[in-house]
Amino acid sequence: MFKKILIANRGEIACRVMKTAQKMGIKTVAVYSDADRDAEHVKMADEAVHIGAPPAAQSYLLPDKIIEACKQTGAEAVHPGYGFLSERASFCEALEKEGIIFIGPKVKAIEAMGDKITSKKIAAEAGVSTVPGYMGLIDDAEHAVKISKEIGYPVMIKASAGGGGKGMRIAWNDEEALEGFARSKSEAASSFGDDRIFIEKFIVEPRHIEIQLLGDGHGNVVYLNERECSVQRRNQKVVEEAPSPFLDEKTRKAMGEQSVALAKAVDYQSAGTVEFIVDKDRNFYFLEMNTRLQVEHPVTELITGLDLVELMIRVAAGEKLPIAQKDVTINGWAVESRLYAEDPYRNFLPSIGRLTRYRPPQEETKGGITVRNDTGVTEGSEISMYYDPMIAKLCTHAPTRLEAVDAMADALDRFEVEGIGHNLPFLSALMQHPRWREGRLSTGFIAEEYPEGFGPVAPDAESVQRFAAAAVVLSKIAADRNAHISGSRFPTAAGGKKVVLVAGHTVKAEISPLSTGIGVSLEGGPVLQVETTWQPGNPLAVVVIEGKPVALKVQPAPGGFRMRQRGIDVKVQVLSPRVAELAALMPEKAPPDTSNLLLCPMPGLITSVLVKEGDEVQEGQALAIVEAMKMENMLRAEKRAKVSKVLAKPGASLAVDDVIMEFA
Ligand code: ADP
Ligand code: ADP
Ligand code: MG
Repeated sequence: MFKKILIANRGEIACRVMKTAQKMGIKTVAVYSDADRDAEHVKMADEAVHIGAPPAAQSYLLPDKIIEACKQTGAEAVHPGYGFLSERASFCEALEKEGIIFIGPKVKAIEAMGDKITSKKIAAEAGVSTVPGYMGLIDDAEHAVKISKEIGYPVMIKASAGGGGKGMRIAWNDEEALEGFARSKSEAASSFGDDRIFIEKFIVEPRHIEIQLLGDGHGNVVYLNERECSVQRRNQKVVEEAPSPFLDEKTRKAMGEQSVALAKAVDYQSAGTVEFIVDKDRNFYFLEMNTRLQVEHPVTELITGLDLVELMIRVAAGEKLPIAQKDVTINGWAVESRLYAEDPYRNFLPSIGRLTRYRPPQEETKGGITVRNDTGVTEGSEISMYYDPMIAKLCTHAPTRLEAVDAMADALDRFEVEGIGHNLPFLSALMQHPRWREGRLSTGFIAEEYPEGFGPVAPDAESVQRFAAAAVVLSKIAADRNAHISGSRFPTAAGGKKVVLVAGHTVKAEISPLSTGIGVSLEGGPVLQVETTWQPGNPLAVVVIEGKPVALKVQPAPGGFRMRQRGIDVKVQVLSPRVAELAALMPEKAPPDTSNLLLCPMPGLITSVLVKEGDEVQEGQALAIVEAMKMENMLRAEKRAKVSKVLAKPGASLAVDDVIMEFA
């Protein structure tokens, strides 16, 4: 076995790989850019080597720097994680020349599978079901239209070198095929430096289901069942699960066996994934093969009990797979939520800054439920604009799907992240969504269910009661504490009537002392027993109502609290009946009107301003482009207006809410 390995990656996946290496008694070497000097993966490693400037092209994407770091530290092998150099054949070749082992598949397999057109051809030859389409390259827009017509609309126009959901367009008619071809081609050229395009049938209402494979250098390949990754936003995965709620045993076996046939055709040795789309009649079609460890591999680990990173390392060291197909089982259900630094209230624009608070839920196995959190940050870490916006991957595992989903909802409620915009509220809301809970998924799920984007969830009647009960108790604890601090000899009245205002709802409450906890009666109803160890100042309150724990994020606000739970985000006021009467007479203070301004939604660089003073703009018209976290974000007009003043010029670095332009 190796004595020392280098991890050519950063963030959660670098930490994930090191965890297993440490368990196996292997020494670890980290590499880091200037931006990652204090990063977790650097602290976790036995040694760390600085490799360059923050942009990935000047550090994590430089094969020479990685090889130099191996030589310097004596690392015998390199684990590439995902992204960066993980699927670059030339990097593996360079390592091989130096006698350093690549913990992944062999160069030939990476080359064959790295290209979507080539891999589709090999898959078809290996007997794998592929998406109907044209197997060659498309020369020009006219050719694209001709081929699209032959395949039959709708079609998917794709970049052969594509990845990460980029360079892909759906076309429903000739006109869209013309335009889609041009746009895919230019996006492919700028993102991948390779503008080869192909076209295939667009599978309507598809599910994304993928098979995890594992091969060794002795001709053995097994499949470790499937993952369903249909919950996607703009072709990027958000929530994944294993197994899939849609597959039956027969389809699983067919997909698994075809994947194994493909792996054997390219002599695949390592962990890899064959991605399929599955239509509503359970016909499945090969999409592509990812020749690396996948982001969502933890859900497979949770249902199979295997450590994929350990097996990758063992196979790379020449060992035989310790398992055969018959040893692979499915135990329970696992769900993964990707926590992204993307603000759901601002159309998921990336958000950067310092994590002023970062407290993941307890990782543990208790009562048949496992909570696992893969992360590369800690409280105080900086989320920079240079890398991926993924902060953590939260996974839960339970005997059944709904138990795993409920455990996820609870774990998300307990996850504290402050300082940057993040998608926790969105993930929480998803866990409550009836269609998700029923497992009725397709890759269009998010776009269909959130056509207007995402906004705070309106509390239903039950949530209003839950928030009200919690708020009266927290408010009493805060009042008792104040009375204590002020030295008053008289604690606040043990009981009393209150009026709770929850997002426009009024709830009458009465509190009474109990031998354990506090009694709360809502609207004259039965007395509920409420217990909590919350203290004023704690941002997380676990309130046990009638024996059922409810985790809420709590912040003080005038007259009460801002409370967040399950994607709901509301102001809750606890008033005496008299104050409530008076409050009802007070006019609401209107927030300042910013509708005539274009504000910068995130810290970033203005790369272009697309309109000038005096221009009439239409709703949806592109106004300016802001670059942050390697992503170009197009800012569009929310309504028809006339540009009266442009304040930001291309090249300007702006902060959140800086004014870019004014409208008349
Ligand atoms: P997975 O299929 O493992 O979920 P994703 O598509 O989310 O993978 O991508 C995993 C990582 O690899 C992301 O960081 C993504 O940005 C990166 N990535 C994917 N494809 C490419 C590519 N062709 N070039 C560079 N980075 C890529
Ligand atoms: P990437 O390399 O960017 O991951 P994929 O080929 O894996 O590209 O496709 C990404 C996603 O796009 C899939 O998960 C699926 O949702 C959608 N997709 C790709 N091809 C098709 C198709 N032919 N029909 C319908 N959806 C597709
Ligand atoms: Mg893919």
